[in-house]
Amino acid sequence: MRETVAFAAVTSTEHPNGQAWQPIADRGGPMGLYDTARREVVPFTPGRIVSMYTCGITPYDATHLGHAATYLTYDVVQRRLRDLGHETRCVRNVTDVDDSILGKAREIGVHYLDLAARETARFDDDMVALEMLPSYSEPRATGAIADIRGFVGEALDKGHAYEAGGSVYFDVSTYADFGKISGYSTDEMLPLAAEHGGFPDDPNKRNPLDFVLWQQSTPDEPSWDSKWGPGRPGWHIECSALALRELGTTIDLHGGGSDLIFPHHECEAAQSQAVTGQPFVRHWMHQAMVRMDGEKMSKSLGNLVFVSELRKEFDTRAIRLGVIAHHYRDAWEWHDEIMPTAAARLERWIAAGEGEAGLAETRAALDNDLDTPGALAAIDGAVEAGVGGVSAAAALVGVRL
Ligand code: ZN
Repeated sequence: MRETVAFAAVTSTEHPNGQAWQPIADRGGPMGLYDTARREVVPFTPGRIVSMYTCGITPYDATHLGHAATYLTYDVVQRRLRDLGHETRCVRNVTDVDDSILGKAREIGVHYLDLAARETARFDDDMVALEMLPSYSEPRATGAIADIRGFVGEALDKGHAYEAGGSVYFDVSTYADFGKISGYSTDEMLPLAAEHGGFPDDPNKRNPLDFVLWQQSTPDEPSWDSKWGPGRPGWHIECSALALRELGTTIDLHGGGSDLIFPHHECEAAQSQAVTGQPFVRHWMHQAMVRMDGEKMSKSLGNLVFVSELRKEFDTRAIRLGVIAHHYRDAWEWHDEIMPTAAARLERWIAAGEGEAGLAETRAALDNDLDTPGALAAIDGAVEAGVGGVSAAAALVGVRL
């Protein structure tokens, strides 16, 4: 179990967007959640409606456990917020045009949108099987080109961007808070930018950390007309344009894998705040990486465990339990004992049957920075004590008994 983080209880919520609202009494709360930008656990006290944005997939390969861990984390957050009486609106985008999907489509000789449609359908199938709460919306980057062009135009008009060599770049020197979310120095940011397609050596850039908003397409890439010449959006701007369009200027909680903190989220926040003049995100929440064979599970390394493969052998509820037995801020290693352990746990819970045993302890664990291992331990404890069924507590972590 994690050390309990104490903070003053919030008895009434005056939300910055003007909604005066009170969570349902006698259910505990508020949730304490670690905020990446503030680097501490803080009370998460949104208004009745909670706007959430999680960076979605680039659909060019099957869903692996690293993806599943990220979306399961935000699923459990939403379940606890809904338990407190909130309405959650979680947008998850689909990055259906970027360097990686275009590269894969070229490699296997299919149209990139056919590849995207096929892999998005497989992803959706895994999400439904894992009983994820449905997204509020799942907008596609290619469906937001007009929004993106408008956004680039505003960034230029406001002096935060410049044109060079047929592309448009964000000028980080115009944005004093660049680096505030990650807390990284320039020396730490540069190699990460290079690793994640930021091309710090691009001769068109004034500063190596400037990032592309609109880029020229190569002859075999998709291209849309714009004032700055035909091209396609940069990666980061897709999420800013979609988040602003779907949820408004300020989002309560923005999430994704911890590998997105820099450059992706730092760049998203910089361009969004530069253009709107408003805070972009109130709370940043990041999922640690899942590892296998000592390395981060990733497509480039090929050390992947696919949800679709696990589904052939195990109950999807056990897959969920296997993943959330790990805390979202701890990187963890996938190994062969995880699934048998989770399957046995599920059997014990099912045998305990319906009831509200362990519910208060489960809520308290989730309020402690989404301590899912603590929540599972609380449910196990209720089962072992034989004090009743645990279906309500199990439902809070998304397991239907
Ligand atoms: Zn994103």
